[in-house]
Amino acid sequence: MTNQVAVVGGGPGGYAAAFLAADLDLTTVLIDPEVNPGGVCVYRGCIPSKALLHVAKVLDEARHAAAWGVEFGEPRINLQKLRDFKNNVVKRLTSGTGQLVKHRKVHYIQGIAEIADPHTLRVKRAGGGEETLRFDHAILATGSTPAAPPALAINDPRVMDSTAALDLPDIPKSLLVVGGGYIGLELGSVYATLGSAVTVVEMTSGLLPGADRDLVDILAKRIGTTMTAVRLNTRVVQMKAQADGIAVTLEGGEGGKDSTREAFDRVLVAVGRCPNSGIEGLDGTRVKRDPRGFIVVDNQMRTDEPSIFAIGDVVGEPMLAHKASHEGRVAVEVIAGENVAFEARAIPAVVFTDPEIAWCGLTEAQARQEGRKVVIAKFPWGASGRAITLDRTDGLTKLLLDADTERILGVGLVGAGAGELIAEGVLAVEMGANATDLKLSIHPHPTLTETMMESAEVFFGQATHVYRPRR
Ligand SMILES: Cc1cc2nc3c(=O)[nH]c(=O)nc-3n(C[C@H](O)[C@H](O)[C@H](O)COP(=O)(O)OP(=O)(O)OC[C@H]3O[C@@H](n4cnc5c(N)ncnc54)[C@H](O)[C@@H]3O)c2cc1C
Repeated sequence: MTNQVAVVGGGPGGYAAAFLAADLDLTTVLIDPEVNPGGVCVYRGCIPSKALLHVAKVLDEARHAAAWGVEFGEPRINLQKLRDFKNNVVKRLTSGTGQLVKHRKVHYIQGIAEIADPHTLRVKRAGGGEETLRFDHAILATGSTPAAPPALAINDPRVMDSTAALDLPDIPKSLLVVGGGYIGLELGSVYATLGSAVTVVEMTSGLLPGADRDLVDILAKRIGTTMTAVRLNTRVVQMKAQADGIAVTLEGGEGGKDSTREAFDRVLVAVGRCPNSGIEGLDGTRVKRDPRGFIVVDNQMRTDEPSIFAIGDVVGEPMLAHKASHEGRVAVEVIAGENVAFEARAIPAVVFTDPEIAWCGLTEAQARQEGRKVVIAKFPWGASGRAITLDRTDGLTKLLLDADTERILGVGLVGAGAGELIAEGVLAVEMGANATDLKLSIHPHPTLTETMMESAEVFFGQATHVYRPRR
C-alpha cells in the first residue's frame, strides 16, 4: 500500500502535520524514535523546561511572601520529587499524543527513517528489523539538536547540554551558562532559583540577541540580582576537566582583552541548535540544504524534490514549536490541494524567564534597519493597577506603529505573564489592527491586558494612567 503522506519526525511539526493529514482522510504514516510523538518540544524542550520554571516561580514567590505578610521557613527542595513532577508532565502529554495517534488511525512506527528514493522510505525499527514504505508525499520534520562547538565539546558529564540540564542531576554550587540566549537564560534561572551560583557568558554585547533592548534591559536588571554574574562580549576559549570542577578560560569583557581562568562545578552549553538535515539518503534526491544545513523550502514548504516537503526546525529560524506546527499544517493543506502558503506576519517569541519577554511582528531595530517610518508607544507597568497588586511593576508594553496608517506592526512585552499577553499582539498584527482598534477595545480591569489598550492610548497622548504635561 502506498501512504498518501509519510511524516518523518514526531515533534510538534511532525505530529501536527500527521494529525491534520489523517483528519483530511489521507492515509498517513508517522515515524519517530520515541514510543509516542512529542519530539524535542515535549521530551526535552518547551514542556519540561516550563514545568521546572513553574516550580522556580513558586519557590521565588514563597521566598518573597514575607514582604506581603506571609512567612514560610526556607523552602526545602526534594530533587527527586521535582524530577518526578517534570517527568510526569512529559508522560501525561506524550501518552496523550499516543492516544491521538490511535484515535486518528495514523500508522505510527517507532524508528528512524532513511530515504531510499523520492517515493520510498526505509525504516529501521526501534525494536529491530527494517521495513520499506511507499509514499506519495513525505514531510521531513526531523528537528534540531544542541550545537556543540569544538572548544566546548569535552566529554565530561559535568558539561551539559540543555537535555542533560533538564535531567537535574544535582544542584551544583556553581554553574557556568555559556550562551545568553533564551535556553541558557531559562535553564540558568531554574538553577539560580534552586540555589546555584550562576554565571552567564555571552559572546555578543547583550543578552538575547535579536530581542528589543527596552525589554531586555528590564530583564537584565532583575537577572543582575538573581544570578552571580553576567559577562557580555565574552567567549569561552578553553574548557578542561579537573577533579575540583571544570576549568574554563574566558576571554573578552569590557576592553575585549581580559583573560580569566575559573572553575565551575558544572557548565551548561546553550549556544544554539543545528538542523537534523543529515537524513540518510537525502543526498540522492533533489532536496537542497543552505550553508547552515537548513533544508531549503518555498513558502508552501516544498523542497526542490516535488514529492518531499520539509517543516519546523530543520528548515530554519525561528526554531520554535508553534512555527513548526503551523508549517506542518500548511504542508498538509498544500498536499491536499489547497492554495495556501506560510505567510505569517507575526510569529511570537517568548522567553519564559522572570520577568518574561515576548514579542511579535517588527522590532524597533528591524524597523530602523529597513528605514520604515514608525512611531513607538510605551506603557510602563508601574502605571498598571494589576502590576502593582502583583507587586511586579518591572514590566513594559511597547507598540510599534506605522507613522502614516497607525497600523500596529509589532508588539513587545516584558513582565510577569508576558508570554500569555503576547497573543493579543499577534492577533492585532495579523489582523492589521490599528491604534484606534486597540484603544477602543474595552479591556477587563484590573488586568495586565489593559497595558495593551493603554499603550495605544499613549500613542494618542491620552493614556488615563500616564500624565503628559501640556507644552
Ligand atoms: C530546552 C528547550 C526549550 C525550548 N522551549 C521552547 C519554548 O518554550 N517554546 C517554543 O516554541 N520552542 C521551544 N523550544 C524549541 C522547540 O523545542 C523546537 O522548536 C521544536 O521542538 C521543533 O519542532 P520540530 O517538529 O521541528 O522538531 P523536533 O521537536 O526537534 O522533533 C523532531 C523529531 O524527529 C525525530 N527524528 C530525527 N531524525 C529522524 C529520522 N531520520 N527518522 C525519524 N525520526 C527522526 C527526532 O528524534 C525528534 O523526535 C525549546 C527547545 C529546547 C531545547
